[in-house]
Amino acid sequence: MKTLLVTLSLVLAGLPGKPYALNAQITSQSFVFQNLPYDYDALEPYIDATTMEIHYSRHHRAYYNNFLNAVKGTEMEKMAIEDIFANISAYPQAVRNNGGGYYNHTLFWANMAPGTGQKPSGKLEKAIEKTFGSVDAFKEAFAKAGATRFGSGWAWLSLDHEGNLFVSSTPNQDNPLMNVAEQKGFPLLAMDVWEHAYYLKYQNKRADYIEAFWNVINWKEVENRYEKALKQLK
Ligand code: MN
Repeated sequence: MKTLLVTLSLVLAGLPGKPYALNAQITSQSFVFQNLPYDYDALEPYIDATTMEIHYSRHHRAYYNNFLNAVKGTEMEKMAIEDIFANISAYPQAVRNNGGGYYNHTLFWANMAPGTGQKPSGKLEKAIEKTFGSVDAFKEAFAKAGATRFGSGWAWLSLDHEGNLFVSSTPNQDNPLMNVAEQKGFPLLAMDVWEHAYYLKYQNKRADYIEAFWNVINWKEVENRYEKALKQLK
């Protein structure tokens, strides 16, 4: 039975893209456009529904579509996106911008959740305390990374290749997996500080948006990513 299911799914996977095409939008079987794991209004009042709808259904969709177009017919079509990023300087700028935009937003949606008052716990909490002194000191460093990023970009909590946590920021749609990043590692927590992420509700007050972001972090997801990244190091 198991063999039959595997065979069946292989057959289905081999069909042309039609069954996956939704509203004539572009889709790929290698690079998935993930569903938003909650409703547009789920992060209210910290992140408003209109921002979420435009951000997810237009910005994120555009990065995704443009990324698929940029890799179409190239070796990248069959590559893991992490491997593309590891050699991103060798590929066209459109792949860097749109592949980054697609990947970074996928992490961002997943590392948020409706306000649950979650805090880091377990191994991750201990590692944060060891690295930054306290959870509050980490928050300060992370907020500063987001607040001082000039123009558009991202703030990150990542794990480096020696297993140490670090906070950084990247411009535009770059991320710590890219060989062009100043500090390289596995991203665990992503915060979008492009104006499109907060301008409708917070206008020019990026610091207020960053303060609100603490209420919607999905720490369970961040911890899962931490455990996975640690295992990959071994
Ligand atoms: Mn964005």
